[in-house]
Amino acid sequence: MEIEEFRKHAHAMVDWMADYLENVEEYPVLSKVKPGEIKAQIPESFPESAESFNAIFKDFEDKIMPGITHWESPNFFAYFPASKSKPSILGEMLMSVLGTQGMVWLTSPAATELEDRMMEWMRDLLGLSKDWTGSIQDTASTGTFNALITAREKACNFQINEKGFHRMPRYRIYASEQAHSSIDKNVKIAGFGINNLVKIPVDENFAMIPEKLEEKIQKDIDSGYEPLFILGALGTTGTTAVDPLEKIGQIAKKHHIWFHVDAAYSGAALICPEHRWMSKGLELADSMVFNPHKWMFVNFDCSLYYVKEPDLLKQTYSITPEYLKTDADEQVNNYRDWHIQLGRRFRALKLWFVLREFGADKLRSIIHNHIVWAQWLEKEIEKSADFEMLAPVPVNLLCFRFNNGKMNEDELNQFNEQLLKQVNVTGKIFITHTKLNGKYTLRLVGGHPELTKEHLEIAWKLIQDTAHKTQ
Ligand SMILES: *Cc1c(COP(=O)(O)O)cnc(C)c1O
Repeated sequence: MEIEEFRKHAHAMVDWMADYLENVEEYPVLSKVKPGEIKAQIPESFPESAESFNAIFKDFEDKIMPGITHWESPNFFAYFPASKSKPSILGEMLMSVLGTQGMVWLTSPAATELEDRMMEWMRDLLGLSKDWTGSIQDTASTGTFNALITAREKACNFQINEKGFHRMPRYRIYASEQAHSSIDKNVKIAGFGINNLVKIPVDENFAMIPEKLEEKIQKDIDSGYEPLFILGALGTTGTTAVDPLEKIGQIAKKHHIWFHVDAAYSGAALICPEHRWMSKGLELADSMVFNPHKWMFVNFDCSLYYVKEPDLLKQTYSITPEYLKTDADEQVNNYRDWHIQLGRRFRALKLWFVLREFGADKLRSIIHNHIVWAQWLEKEIEKSADFEMLAPVPVNLLCFRFNNGKMNEDELNQFNEQLLKQVNVTGKIFITHTKLNGKYTLRLVGGHPELTKEHLEIAWKLIQDTAHKTQ
């Protein structure tokens, strides 16, 4: 592609992007295609000769766009939001054109040093103490993996890295029954064996019961196991339940167990001082992870991993082949030693753009409003004769179901599953589900930066009308 052609297409594409953002609510939120429909439209073999960019872009519009689910719509209430924002998109564009590989300081000093500063800004914005330092990772799953491996190497004095698991203690890892599945995956990958992940029961609010944790730890010690790692959730994925971090932290300290806090989603609320009740006890932790790519308007991927002792992390991962040694190694951070991968994108750039273009004030007021509106909807659901809440609402996720008091549990499950499908097929909103104590639960969470209370009012009305039609 010639440079003038690049310029022309890039300008046209920016116009396309602005139009998309302006009109995103006109698309069906959930893609309506059937399995296999998109693949069938892509030729079976690759092109041998060059194609015009216009033809490629036309196919993008005609063949790809219908298979897109619009995460960028304020009416996307499914899973957790992966909200982005305009300054973040612009940051991604520059990241893409620079193509920076920030694996060591020398490969782009700005990438490392802006990241140093962004981790400090975010630490302060989240209300964390100055004891924390960290780096930007791809995902929370990776951050939790780092924590698990560092805890392992600290406990065995770096012997498993040297010799493997033979004749090592039988380590145990603890997390609540509601913890994110990434802990299960990580326990497997880190070599502990899934049978050594001990799931701790939760209370009626879906938060870990610390007395049960203490019991299991004592039982394991008595049976010859070595408790290694506790994961506490500051906002679970199912219901955003907040584990009692202070009590868990005290148990971890008492038994010298690594304490990791998963604040992947709800961590965003910590930028508002009024929501910091959730982080009480977080200072007792050894590591924590938070995803600005979920509810802080930074494009996926951008996950912050904080630790108290970065030297342990670096010692766990560091391998310095000759070709990566540089003169600056003693004076700077070489972030390749802070995670598994060698290569790393310049993610600090989009975070910097977001923090400056919004400003902390605006970010706080958006998050604050999302929570206020969710709590308004919680009251509406409680007031309604035909719906009921199934979990508390610490932040902005609503877990509820239709229940007119006339159906048994099986019928209720079937009805709510049907209701979810009927709502989503309208294309007007997209919600997902979970199961809580065997109950089919509708999950609705609004986290788009341009969400208004009206979006939630319309969604609520749509759900009620659909329920009454489905009856
Ligand atoms: C989303 C989520 C994760 C996983 O996030 P990734 O960044 O996709 O790995 C982990 N924990 C919690 C609580 C989450 O909500």
